[in-house]
Amino acid sequence: MPQRPYIVGNWKMHGTRAMLSEARAIDRAAQRHMKVEVAIAPPYTLIHPVHREAEQIAVGAQDCHHEEGGAHTGDISAAMIADAGGKFVILGHSERRQNHSETNAQVKAKADAALAAGLRVILCCGESEETRDAGRAVSFVKKQLKASLPDFSDAPESVVERLTVAYEPVWAIGTGKTANIEDIAEMHAEIRKLLVSVYGEENGAEIRILYGGSVKPENASEILSTPEVGGALVGGASLTADSFMGIALAA
Ligand code: PEP
Repeated sequence: MPQRPYIVGNWKMHGTRAMLSEARAIDRAAQRHMKVEVAIAPPYTLIHPVHREAEQIAVGAQDCHHEEGGAHTGDISAAMIADAGGKFVILGHSERRQNHSETNAQVKAKADAALAAGLRVILCCGESEETRDAGRAVSFVKKQLKASLPDFSDAPESVVERLTVAYEPVWAIGTGKTANIEDIAEMHAEIRKLLVSVYGEENGAEIRILYGGSVKPENASEILSTPEVGGALVGGASLTADSFMGIALAA
């Protein structure tokens, strides 16, 4: 069964309790637009407060540790996110891969841990500008994604519900530049082929693939109507209810 478009806000390191009013406004608007699935990933400190107040939207995290607990100062486990009311986690975001040197193997380990803790996973992949200019974007992204995907051998039937892929060209994140529609369509089609080869025809065809990178209300409609684009992962424009729900309404 086709899934609803999925619009996910990544608040990054933005948001104190003052931002709860935006989360409430997003939640109210989402209640009026049930054809779209809306979720936000605020900083860890706001997961529980948003969870307590939200009726419609899901709240999630922007990363997790791959272990359940232990001597990892400053880290948060997937079970802790679930305990705080988080329903999903974004993993392998390019800012984590770049700023924290996260490898594909670490991203995969985190994805396995998140699934084991009952979270859904949004797995990010994307090429740098240099890689695209060198004509290697598709091969790079496929290799990166393949090495980061969880295997789902324990529960293959839940892969469609619990895994989402987000294609985010690194050079488009927070820059105001978006990939052109042909390139988005090509990359999403290639990612689809990879998902089918890894998870089989039935499941691989249904897993949602989001586009991320400077999505705004003004460009959302064109991006979201591109073949194989099942929603958007939104950074800057998710910080106010008006712009974020402007994107959701375009879906
Ligand atoms: C992101 O960080 O996932 C993102 C897509 O950011 P922005 O929308 O600001 O480009």
